[in-house]
Amino acid sequence: MSEIAENLFAVTGKINEACLRIGRELASVKLIAVSKTVPAELIREAFGAGQYAFGESKLQEAESKIESLPGSLHWHFIGRVQRNKVRKLLPLFEVIHAIDSLKLAIYTDEIAKELGLYPKVFLQVNIGNESSKAGFAPNGIRAEMESLLKLSRLEILGLMCIPPLGPDAESSRTWFTQLRTTRDALESEFGVKLPALSMGMSGDFEAAIEEGATHVRVGSAIFGKRSYRVDGELG
Ligand SMILES: *Cc1c(COP(=O)(O)O)cnc(C)c1O
Repeated sequence: MSEIAENLFAVTGKINEACLRIGRELASVKLIAVSKTVPAELIREAFGAGQYAFGESKLQEAESKIESLPGSLHWHFIGRVQRNKVRKLLPLFEVIHAIDSLKLAIYTDEIAKELGLYPKVFLQVNIGNESSKAGFAPNGIRAEMESLLKLSRLEILGLMCIPPLGPDAESSRTWFTQLRTTRDALESEFGVKLPALSMGMSGDFEAAIEEGATHVRVGSAIFGKRSYRVDGELG
């Protein structure tokens, strides 16, 4: 077995164990292999080992990889969404994970209408209220929810977060719990379903699953350590 196949096998095993621990169905968690900075050959290798969903955070880098890989792969955009990239992002990506403001949501809805698309999106919540991170304020999102729900082209799957960097997985857990309770509160206040939670990365995806994650975004535990920083906030 190749190293990537072994890593995938190990991560999938841990996902299954986390599900078993809290009595969730294995199929309720989607593993997104975060392939930013990873060359197309290695993505192909992961695909060969049975992985279908991949996460990218830069449009330009993703475009050429998507073009060179089989059409059966599912692409998730997990990076910060720049307004001038929306028109190109929507046709390429099945899910956009980080709609971080009402303004961006309104614009994305407009472009989706123009393109005849109904994109699936997550709303990013700046769960730790960090100045370095984008997203809706945890206390502010309810004030914008009504406007967000009027955007008929956006299929809002749920909430996404990147918690403050902490010493270990347990330090992330409290943020994951807060994202879930924020979601639960919005569901009951607005009478809507927000079934998905995109949270958990290589260091803390098991805790995220225990707290309700439906989409875990795992990069280095599958592809190995990245050799350079890409996001400013996440290397
Ligand atoms: C890079 C990145 C990840 C994956 O991080 P790892 O620690 O390598 O698993 C997850 N989510 C986002 C938004 C990222 O930018």
